Amino acid sequence: MKKEIPYKIYLSENELPYTWCNLRAFMQNKPAPLLSPKTMQPITVEELSEVFCEELAKQELDDTTPYIDIPTEVRDFYKMYRPAPLIRAYCLEKKLGTPAHIYYKFEGNNTSGSHKLNSAIAQAYYAKQQGLKGVTTETGAGQWGTALSMACSYFGLDCNVFMVKCSYEQKPFRREVMRTYGANVTPSPSMTTEVGKKINAEFPGTNGSLGCAISEAVEAASTREGYRYVLGSVLNQVLLHQSVIGMETKTALDKYGVKADIIIGCAGGGSNLGGLIAPFMAEKLQGKADYRFIAVEPSSCPTLTRGKYAYDYCDTGKICPLSKMYTLGSGFIPAASHAGGLRYHGMTSTLSELYDQGLMEARSVKQTDVFEAAEYFARIEGILPAPESSHAIRVAMDEAIKCRETGEKKVIVFGLTGTGYFDMMSYEKFHDGKMTDYIPTDGEIEKGLAGLPNL
Ligand SMILES: *Cc1c(COP(=O)(O)O)cnc(C)c1O
Repeated sequence: MKKEIPYKIYLSENELPYTWCNLRAFMQNKPAPLLSPKTMQPITVEELSEVFCEELAKQELDDTTPYIDIPTEVRDFYKMYRPAPLIRAYCLEKKLGTPAHIYYKFEGNNTSGSHKLNSAIAQAYYAKQQGLKGVTTETGAGQWGTALSMACSYFGLDCNVFMVKCSYEQKPFRREVMRTYGANVTPSPSMTTEVGKKINAEFPGTNGSLGCAISEAVEAASTREGYRYVLGSVLNQVLLHQSVIGMETKTALDKYGVKADIIIGCAGGGSNLGGLIAPFMAEKLQGKADYRFIAVEPSSCPTLTRGKYAYDYCDTGKICPLSKMYTLGSGFIPAASHAGGLRYHGMTSTLSELYDQGLMEARSVKQTDVFEAAEYFARIEGILPAPESSHAIRVAMDEAIKCRETGEKKVIVFGLTGTGYFDMMSYEKFHDGKMTDYIPTDGEIEKGLAGLPNL
């Protein structure tokens, strides 16, 4: 007999995972190795440790250990806002008139307002363990910077954030949340680093991009004693930490005997999606179960749907390791959009490889369609979603509508990565009918791809 499924599936503290799931360990064809920008050879833990914390460098290169223990200190911090609820969207189903069952995993229940805290606290912990003074990082929309500020203040680390200029100006409140947690925030490109000065000279008046901000943060870390650089997306280590999302989701579904058919997530650098799908994809790779996975990206930054699978730099300044990934070219600067967290030129190597093998699908969606879905969802399910998260809502709704037409009772699970309280300027544009949809031309895409390194 099936148990009645509650509106929200809460897990107990004991059901909070004790390990992260390392998706790469389950892949027969592994993602291609990261290359050192100096030698163009596969990078070693020693080389990576010059930029990243040592333990994180090890995690970055570990593609064989299937499950990695979550340190007790990190798990204790998780307990303050996790396990995150898995919510059955009964009201949305009813409103859409769909026979599909829709679930969403809500990651917005913490002050930073997104899933990014899951990795921030792990990275801050390893930095502290190593005896570092502080860390540097970049932030796009501001969620990562906020999450890292919280994590650093918890462990007593100095936190320096380079914030993409358009977000710095559009989102002054995020900046103040970071300062509340003791972080130093600098708009990027800035004049405080060599690479920032160079980008400012080359592109006067630029809005900045995640790629530029990464270069500045790496430079700031490598020129200061006792500092390392930390990154909130794209890297394998971040996907690893974000697997706490997928592990909890799987536990919650299993508890009620529910089997997902389609799993959907928005994809910027790919960390929340990679984390959400990790244990499910692991099953698929082992032939234990089948699922459809859909990555949703903005049509203004169509990395998977229009990019190329090639080695590229992770940053505009070309000082980070190279990764084989779907990319639009590290020189591609997407139009200023309202989903700042999805404005990244590349996609994490693990998801790129899975997509290339045909194990995952990708879809790009237009900004106005995304906000339409965001508002619809807010009015019915109550939660005011982040613009990034709303990309997943859009496609979850589209799939549920398809089920209405075919009469199929599919189980749709999507990741609701965060709340949109700091994005009200974007909502305002939408309500005033002033929001536009920018889709890069083929020429612009080709221009970005022409800058790919010759390897
Ligand atoms: C950063 C962010 C994303 C995108 O990052 P991924 O690494 O692709 O997960 C999505 N949603 C929110 C709310 C974010 O803050």
